[in-house]
Amino acid sequence: MLNIKKRHAELVKLLGTYSRQYYIFDDPSVTDAEYDALYNELLALEKEHPELCSENSPSQKVGAKVSKEFKKVEHTEKMLSLENAYNEDDIAAFIERTKKLCGIDNIELVLEPKFDGLSAAIVYKNGILVQASTRGDGAIGEDITANIMTLNNVPKKIANTSERFEVRGEVVMLKADFQKLNEERKKRGEKLFANPRNAAAGSLRQLDANITKERNLTFFAYAIYSDDMSLSTQMDVLNTLKTLGFVVSSRIKLCKNQSEAYNFYREMEKNRASLEYDIDGVVYKTNDLSLQKKMGVSAKFPRHSIAYKFPAQKAQTKVLDIVVQVGRTGNITPVAELMPVTVGGVVVSRATLHNKDDLQKRDIRVGDTVVLQRAGDVIPQILYPVVEERSADSQPFEFPTVCPCCGSRLVKEEKEVAIKCINLNCHAQLVERLIHFASKPAFNIDGLGEQNIRFLFDNEIIKSPTDLFYLEQKNRDIHLENNDGWGRQSVDNLFRSINNSRIISLDRFIYALGIPQIGKAVSKLIAKFFGTYKSFFECVEKLNGQVLLGINGIGKSIVDDFNNFFANETNMSVVRELAGDGNLQGVVRVTDVEKLEGDILAGKTIVFTGSLINFSRDEAKETAEKYGAKVSSSVSSKTSLVVVGENAGSKLKQAQQLGISTISEEEFLNLIRSA
Ligand code: NAD
Repeated sequence: MLNIKKRHAELVKLLGTYSRQYYIFDDPSVTDAEYDALYNELLALEKEHPELCSENSPSQKVGAKVSKEFKKVEHTEKMLSLENAYNEDDIAAFIERTKKLCGIDNIELVLEPKFDGLSAAIVYKNGILVQASTRGDGAIGEDITANIMTLNNVPKKIANTSERFEVRGEVVMLKADFQKLNEERKKRGEKLFANPRNAAAGSLRQLDANITKERNLTFFAYAIYSDDMSLSTQMDVLNTLKTLGFVVSSRIKLCKNQSEAYNFYREMEKNRASLEYDIDGVVYKTNDLSLQKKMGVSAKFPRHSIAYKFPAQKAQTKVLDIVVQVGRTGNITPVAELMPVTVGGVVVSRATLHNKDDLQKRDIRVGDTVVLQRAGDVIPQILYPVVEERSADSQPFEFPTVCPCCGSRLVKEEKEVAIKCINLNCHAQLVERLIHFASKPAFNIDGLGEQNIRFLFDNEIIKSPTDLFYLEQKNRDIHLENNDGWGRQSVDNLFRSINNSRIISLDRFIYALGIPQIGKAVSKLIAKFFGTYKSFFECVEKLNGQVLLGINGIGKSIVDDFNNFFANETNMSVVRELAGDGNLQGVVRVTDVEKLEGDILAGKTIVFTGSLINFSRDEAKETAEKYGAKVSSSVSSKTSLVVVGENAGSKLKQAQQLGISTISEEEFLNLIRSA
């Protein structure tokens, strides 16, 4: 029992943290499937041991507490979640329970798409929109009136003059709008949204409503709360909403029995990929509003409705093309370009076909319909082609024999699966190496996404990583800001970001070089082993990678790649130019291992003061400790850093008197996010 209690407490804590990331920061740290697996484990434990379930359990709570950045809105009527059904038995049980609660033999159901967005409540007074809010924790939401006002599809005035008329529904981003937004973000080198739901939440919950205005959002209305109405069914509600000018889904079905409902559910599941918006199931609602009222609500759900979720994570789509890509180490990878489809909550438009052998074995062809699955976390996988749907003139894919970029003959090395382009000066490889170099886990140069790197390379502005650090100087002649898609501000931001990247930890530096087989984890091991750039450099100069063989996790094949990389004089000169060789200084400064990523606060003593917006004190302490810091409650000469929240007082003064560095909560968050 002790273990069960411990596991329960662990789950409560984990789910709480994940919910905050998801609902407050719109930046989930795990996939929905992972979250649901933990949540279902919690439900199973509580079913077995009901005494574990308190009102603090995620099983009893809706959403998460609201972000302190927004004004709060108290809901007159709680905004609840929906109970989930995963199979026909769950639905049968729901229907039986509903009949019993209502004391009748037949129940009419309205089926609606379960929109994958975030819910909003919009209040009209005497026909004028006066307030809008998010669901928040169900009782208290965030004031998003200014944001909702920017949505063209939400009427600001309605032909209903009740004193108070509340409309609820879901704010979503249509798939087409999502794709456009991400394409623009990619161009600007900004972080992409994982799926339309996150994009909708991140766009609606903005303190600056002008940002919401720029993002096309759609509000689908599905509920009315007003004393002043004579509506008797959910169908009436939907029709009234339509008449008042709201967008209501056209995929609604009134069903008299379970089998009718099941057919509709199946149809929706089949057509899900072709809808304009993402859905993750079908909501079954009791049609009769007086029965709805009679059944009431539980702590988390209304008893009159249930969400029948779609099963996991598979979808069908078409292969539009097969292209071969040249990676930074010369490996040639075939990639399928797909008709975009949402799988497991993520829009997928490409999938790797791994290598020539694998592609030929599975015989995937251009024009094929394929079944896709999201494997593990995010990587989409093509399971198989639907051969029955193949057209008569379809041909197997012909794998190229020369590099699609430089035209060199492709080779297959002994014992290797991959086919390779071995021309080190192949432009495709050079560009891939630059993309890797600037990427987040490497030099983390914001504003230098794939597109910008290609532009700089194709226009012969940069050829090697070192050139990036002379870009600002070079710009006095070339004026990047005069080119389409750049602009003064983004160019300034880019230079700032390049300059910020000049101080880099040893593990990131090693990772950035792009040595085959040396990813983030191995780079950390190597950096820890050497401790300083100086001893790393001495080793690579002598091609003495064998010393690494003592490290657990590093074997002969990695050491061979390590030595081969530095045996190449071009690679050695890049290292020298970048970080120096002990005599000459380079353009970047590599710090020693104390600054290892993941341990960014190692050895630091931190004090938090003032009220924090994004964390409780305990959470702030826990987060800082996770990144290696010690947290103290008082400021002294031993304090390394003071994180200053709102209305900070004496501790801030003390820190200033002692000359101790202070940062805002926002800066603290950025520091952690950058890890
Ligand atoms: P939910 O979103 O699954 O269902 C309830 C919501 O459905 C309602 O609040 C409403 O907004 C919405 N809805 C959509 N269409 C509707 C319709 N036609 N009629 C009525 N309501 C409709 O439940 P939830 O409790 O908000 O969230 C749980 C979900 O969020 C889970 O799927 C979970 O995976 C995900 N989640 C993920 C993470 C993560 O870290 N990945 C964290 C927390 C929650």
